[in-house]
Amino acid sequence: MSLADDSVPVSRADLEALDADDPLAPVRDRFDLPRATSYFDGNSLGPLPRSVRRRVESLVDEQWRRDLVSAWNVHGWIDLPRRVGSRIAPLVGARPEDVVVCDSVSVNLFKLMSAGLGILRSRAGARSAPRRIVVQAEHFPTDVYLAEGLAELARVAGGEVELFRLPMDDLLDDPASALAPHRGAVVSLGHVDFRTGRILPMEEVTAAIHDAGGLALWDLSHSAGALEVELAGCGVDLAVGCGYKFLNGGPGAPSFLYVAPEHQEEARTPLPGWLGHAAPFAFEPTYEPADGVRRFVCGTPPVLSLAALDAALDAWEGVDLAAVRAKSQTMGDAFLALAEAHLAPHGVEVACPRDAAHRGSQVSLRHPEGYEAVQALIERDVVGDFRAPDILRFGLAPLYQRHVEVWDAVAALAEVLASGAHREERFRRRGMVT
Ligand SMILES: *Cc1c(COP(=O)(O)O)cnc(C)c1O
Repeated sequence: MSLADDSVPVSRADLEALDADDPLAPVRDRFDLPRATSYFDGNSLGPLPRSVRRRVESLVDEQWRRDLVSAWNVHGWIDLPRRVGSRIAPLVGARPEDVVVCDSVSVNLFKLMSAGLGILRSRAGARSAPRRIVVQAEHFPTDVYLAEGLAELARVAGGEVELFRLPMDDLLDDPASALAPHRGAVVSLGHVDFRTGRILPMEEVTAAIHDAGGLALWDLSHSAGALEVELAGCGVDLAVGCGYKFLNGGPGAPSFLYVAPEHQEEARTPLPGWLGHAAPFAFEPTYEPADGVRRFVCGTPPVLSLAALDAALDAWEGVDLAAVRAKSQTMGDAFLALAEAHLAPHGVEVACPRDAAHRGSQVSLRHPEGYEAVQALIERDVVGDFRAPDILRFGLAPLYQRHVEVWDAVAALAEVLASGAHREERFRRRGMVT
């Protein structure tokens, strides 16, 4: 894309015209958004879908209060991990029975890395192959920490896991050569980079991992609900994703996990809890894994959170992910064109791919006073976020955002930087969560 490209909408009127014809415009009403707010942080915490309030209220008032323990059966609470998983499955290109919702992304990464090592071990058979995990060097920190944790656990238990950090650029340049030195590894990657929004080509990289005798574990935290994902179509082995970002499941919503059908029989969880047992209420002295992905459920499901996520998924009813992706790309292209014209003179640089095909559903910019600028923007009802050291991040969520908000966000940021409003002392104070 270049600024000279006439197809990129760059006036406020262009963006208003797109809103007037937007097939997704009515979906905005499914969300209870603060009226004056332009919300560009749905990739950190999705906003409240209206269906969630009703569902949580009825769960508390009717099911829990009135039906007490019988609600586990009567209202199907016990089936929520599978049921909610089956609703997420079509958003990530999986069969309904191959996805389950439980625990956090962090915990699920640990479980699936361990399961992946087990699958590779039994594949190696009598040959004693090394245990290897490769993580993307720029990965979200938790994804790396959990890999370190698993390696540490192996050491404590007298074993060894080799851990290697592979730079994303190497994978993008030539996946086969990048992976050649790491044969037979569980390779843990982010589909969309949380800082830069860069997409790793899932099909090509997964094929390269398989050629190197490994298993592909993808983190879909920034892609589920933001772009079309084809887990089965790309031959992905294992995947995790986030419930509270683009899926709008609410603060701390549980995560989903996917195990390819061909691995389910063999996959073992390192946290074999009673609710992943084949017959939890037989209270048997020895663990017997449940069939399929249900074995990855560990303990009692967080019913309130699961019900909120379940209800949040109603917002996707009748929504075409291709339309979501197309709108997100248009918004992103417009954002970058406007940033180039109005923010570059204030020292703002583009930190995400300019080509929409390589960019997830976010725009990332760079500025040395990014933190303060984001705080000043929030005071102007434009909510984005900041990712250290210098990234201003604007999530694009076509279910509820209007094109014209892009214009307003860039205008507000240009005004802040031009006036120096962000230099006021109060914008320097940092909360624990940025
Ligand atoms: C948001 C996010 C997580 C969050 O993990 P939790 O354990 O659910 O807090 C993990 N990985 C990535 C890539 C993320 O973007």
